[in-house]
Amino acid sequence: MRKLAALAGFSMLTTACVTGERPVLTDETLPPSTAQAASETEDEALPAAAEEVVEPLPTSTVPEPAAARALITPSGVVVPVLDFIDNEYVVRTPCGETSMITGGMPIAETTVVLDPGHGGEEIGAVGPNGLTEKELNLELAERTKAELESRGISVVLARTADYRITIATRAEIGNRLDAEVMVSIHHNAPNFLESDKPGSEVFIQSGSPESRRLGGLVYEETVAALDQFDVAWTVSDNAGALEVLNRDGEDAYGMVRRPEMPAVLAELGYLSNPPEAELFLTEEYQSVASMALADAIERFLTTDDPGSGFTNEPRFFTPGGGTGGSGGCVDPELG
Ligand SMILES: [Zn+2]
Repeated sequence: MRKLAALAGFSMLTTACVTGERPVLTDETLPPSTAQAASETEDEALPAAAEEVVEPLPTSTVPEPAAARALITPSGVVVPVLDFIDNEYVVRTPCGETSMITGGMPIAETTVVLDPGHGGEEIGAVGPNGLTEKELNLELAERTKAELESRGISVVLARTADYRITIATRAEIGNRLDAEVMVSIHHNAPNFLESDKPGSEVFIQSGSPESRRLGGLVYEETVAALDQFDVAWTVSDNAGALEVLNRDGEDAYGMVRRPEMPAVLAELGYLSNPPEAELFLTEEYQSVASMALADAIERFLTTDDPGSGFTNEPRFFTPGGGTGGSGGCVDPELG
């Protein structure tokens, strides 16, 4: 229900964009999670005795509060759980503060964490048609989550609606849940060279063979899927599955450097490129791209396939105080 409502909102948005209107995501188009999450979890959320917990439960079963490593708050926001004291969760807020929460849906474990890049004031790239990266990334993450769950693979989203969240908190969600895979979903800017192939890039963790394999599979599936669209793509000169290092020789991107499991950051295409921005608005693209991400993640989990498309020379890039920090961050309603 919630998923359908969100998609219906996005479809209407898509139509508006094609006719030239700038899309504006209102509260109505965001997952109306608050009331529903609260009603679904009312019983489970009642504080229970902490000492009853024996071992991790299947994700289809709501764990005891004391087993929670993350929490879907009553307002639908996923936060890392630091402790459970006197029937209250001690959580890290999206902006990196510590807060106490009563109620919500505890999560003990997950196989996959998907991170929709940007959110709130940090809109990311913007297409000439008005499509924002933050909304496109979230739409793909929601679709990929639904697809993986239909295959029996548990998924948690690091961002569930349109709010700011620091890179540190995003990574902490994956780390606390001890996820097996973390994939950060992005769309790129600015424009580079014209290309007859998609300019997808997947940033991998340096020195991690498993992140490299995951990145190669995400690259392989994404490019094969997008290549079926006849679009004037744009591409950077060393696109592929690659390491991006800062001046200290560390992985330049926090969503690659901070996760403690195999993780990649995928830039599926260039939202700044007008023909790609038009494509990204379509149902076909959103369906195909999310299926490709799901296929790549499932292959990573179930096969030893090595992936392909590796760019063996690292790219050197030192982010200049960009986004993803806590400065000016205002937390969404959590309770
Ligand atoms: Zn981005």
